[in-house]
Amino acid sequence: MRILVVEDDVNLNRQLVEALEEAGYVVDKAFDGEEGHFLGDTEPYDAVILDIGLPEMDGLTVLEKWRAAGRVMPVLILTARDRWSDKVAGIDAGADDYVAKPFHVEEVLARIRALIRRAAGHASSEIVCGPVRLDTKASKASVSGTQLKLTSHEYRLLSYLMHHMGEVVSRSELVEHLYDQDFDRDSNTIEVFVGRLRKKIGLDLIETVRGLGYRMQAPKDAH
Ligand code: CA
Repeated sequence: MRILVVEDDVNLNRQLVEALEEAGYVVDKAFDGEEGHFLGDTEPYDAVILDIGLPEMDGLTVLEKWRAAGRVMPVLILTARDRWSDKVAGIDAGADDYVAKPFHVEEVLARIRALIRRAAGHASSEIVCGPVRLDTKASKASVSGTQLKLTSHEYRLLSYLMHHMGEVVSRSELVEHLYDQDFDRDSNTIEVFVGRLRKKIGLDLIETVRGLGYRMQAPKDAH
């Protein structure tokens, strides 16, 4: 899962980026509204954290421009405390949720998890695919109750496939959602990671759809 953080406060930006990376996301960051608007307009993100008070272009304008251009990714806005009018204006501009400053990073993480999961159509923080359980809260996965030892990259891959369970996910889509903008992207490495993940899961739940990509789904019941 790939997240964009747009926040001009350097310390706060770093704090958010570190917490998100720690939780297993790949993160791109911007420090003003123009840069943030450009990234959100051109790169695919699974969620965006957007400050309202930004230099160059304010957060509400950024959000309105994205929505007017048909960008539908979930957006969490950061508002100043006691500025209820910011919250109303933000939601009217197309925000999916908000957190008022000052906040606990854990609250932002919980809201981001919920936004990503709801955007993918999952109501619970645990996503289940046959014997595989993904605990999005702890960033962990297990098979038949045994915890999987995954690298952060493997976790991101599994998490993306499970959030999009039953859908065919192309290699280029995986590359875009598993790496940040600075990464030297090579879609061939995806195949290697899928291979490793299959081995760790030990069950054939990730199907290769020739020419299209991969699909993860629960095994069908035997009749
Ligand atoms: Ca600010």
